[in-house]
Amino acid sequence: MSGQAEKHEFQSEAKQVLELMIHSVYSNPDIFLRELISNASDALDKLRIESLSDETLGYAQGEGKITVRLDPEKRALTVSDNGIGMSRDELISFLGTIAKSGTREFIAAMNEARGNGDLIGQFGVGFYSSFIVAGRVTVDTRKAGTEESWLWDSSGDGTFSIEPGSRDTGGTDVTLYIKERGKDDEDSPSEIKNYLSRWTLREIIKKYSDFVSYPIYLEDSSEKKDAEDAKDEPVNSMKALWIRAESDVSDDEYNEFYKHITHDWEDPMERIVYRAEGTNEFHALLYIPSRPPLDLFYREGAHGIELYIRRVFIMNDCRDLMPEYLRFVRGVVDSEDLPLNVSREILQQDSMTAMIKRGIVRKVLDTLKRMKSDRAEDYKKFWGMFGEVLKEGIVSDIKNRDAIMKLALFEASRSGETSLEDYVAGMKEGQKSIYYIAGGKSETLSNSPKLEAFSERGIDVLLLSNPIDEIWVSAVREFDSHQFASASSADVEIEGGEPSRKDGVSDEEGNDSLVSRVKESLKNIEGFADVEDVKLSSRLVGSPATFVQKGEPISPQMRNFFRSMGQNTPPERRVLEINALHPLVKKISQSDWTDEASKDWTVLLAGLASISDGEPVRNAAAFTSTLEKLLEDR
Ligand code: ADP
Repeated sequence: MSGQAEKHEFQSEAKQVLELMIHSVYSNPDIFLRELISNASDALDKLRIESLSDETLGYAQGEGKITVRLDPEKRALTVSDNGIGMSRDELISFLGTIAKSGTREFIAAMNEARGNGDLIGQFGVGFYSSFIVAGRVTVDTRKAGTEESWLWDSSGDGTFSIEPGSRDTGGTDVTLYIKERGKDDEDSPSEIKNYLSRWTLREIIKKYSDFVSYPIYLEDSSEKKDAEDAKDEPVNSMKALWIRAESDVSDDEYNEFYKHITHDWEDPMERIVYRAEGTNEFHALLYIPSRPPLDLFYREGAHGIELYIRRVFIMNDCRDLMPEYLRFVRGVVDSEDLPLNVSREILQQDSMTAMIKRGIVRKVLDTLKRMKSDRAEDYKKFWGMFGEVLKEGIVSDIKNRDAIMKLALFEASRSGETSLEDYVAGMKEGQKSIYYIAGGKSETLSNSPKLEAFSERGIDVLLLSNPIDEIWVSAVREFDSHQFASASSADVEIEGGEPSRKDGVSDEEGNDSLVSRVKESLKNIEGFADVEDVKLSSRLVGSPATFVQKGEPISPQMRNFFRSMGQNTPPERRVLEINALHPLVKKISQSDWTDEASKDWTVLLAGLASISDGEPVRNAAAFTSTLEKLLEDR
């Protein structure tokens, strides 16, 4: 290292990722080359796109290329490109830090699953994967349009150095000093091949990077200049996969392309090859991943697909072509008709964009429909990973609402996992509504006293445990002409099925006065001002009491959610329902009703109702002291 070299520390998260790279066991170390070639190809794309608005960058169409250069004597492997390059500041920030959202979560997950190299694929560490095979990496780079070149140098030990580099044209040389197995690193994974063999490299490039749209040349400094195919013939075919007939492309090729664009290490779950003809012609090659990306719920995460126009890469993360609720779909759209100089702003307003979007959304939904009917097990897995995202479409995509609702799976009190169509098919005679209960975990919901009368009659109830469910269910209101009805609503009518006992218990002796006394007492107990009414219940079987809601049902969870967002919700209007047939209630009803006893019984019933609803007891102090008092009297 020369005297001018300046030492820098990696950002702590980058350091941790590097450590994981160096010490974990990898299922496939070959991918480092794919990552470096992808970065080179991105750098060439960037230069081409920036040259459109800046002629001084001196990009000439057709000159972009990638060279993989071997120097077996020095154990050096260089991936060189004449792309955009990096300035000194960029070099320090791009290769010394990790800006990706989800990094912290990724590191935590990796630490928990030590040795599970497959997790790395979820993250896509790109450049750092060089350290799987190399003990030292240097990056010599010059930003296009500038006069300075900089050399980044690191042995992956927590620091890197920066000093003047030696490139005299724009672009980047990434040089890996390949570890010698057993010598440089005792833990060096046994899968490491001889990456200094021309033959091995050719195989890897053909396998992983054949479709890269710039020529990739392979050079070996130990061979003579005029040696067989040296330099002249690119190793890759550069054929755009999405243009080729599906029958001409192998599954392996499709899967490698998926990994190229996503940095995932695992094959996708499903692929969609689509060609639209007519006035708005385009090709699409789309994939559904076999696991969720870490940034699925980050709004600023890398969502959307890559846009090409007549085989030329235009932009990635193109959100205008795919709605938010399908943000897990990855892939490429190649338009024949959009203008090459299209910008994000133009895309947003372009009617052609909207048409492409409509076309691919329909295609994705059709594919999911087919998967649901033909590959139920895979579909369940898909739903478990992406269902929550897809459900957003019920609210946001009114045109496709029906199709999305048919794709949705739900937990139900009797049938376990069900779809809405299956639910409707299994409805009881006389049942017109689709019953649901919302708010809270599905286990809590399934034990709710509000479901007792439904269970008794053999009526299934959807357990809507996700906050998004309450949003769509209040927006949609019906499916297949059946209204959604909340089991928590004070006015729900239970249609169909036979109860095991008679409803309408108000005529029993003493019950009317029980109701009026409880109602009277509640007025004087703190925390129950919102209770509008007290009634005898026809829905309870095994529980003494429950709170139901009048008007538009909003679960307590949803209320808290809205409150935390600083939004107002309509005032709560609760009704306390009491089960006159319950032994405890019977005992209470027949006991002496002094003022003090009234208060105690009321506190007890209201508290029990809250507990069995899975909610906190609002007057916890009064409840516990009453309970203690009653137990002492025994
Ligand atoms: P990713 O490619 O996923 O962003 P990397 O760690 O592979 O992550 O690279 C980090 C950044 O470094 C890239 O986003 C890019 O800006 C820059 N970079 C890497 N390789 C090159 C290259 N060959 N030419 C120019 N910039 C590069």
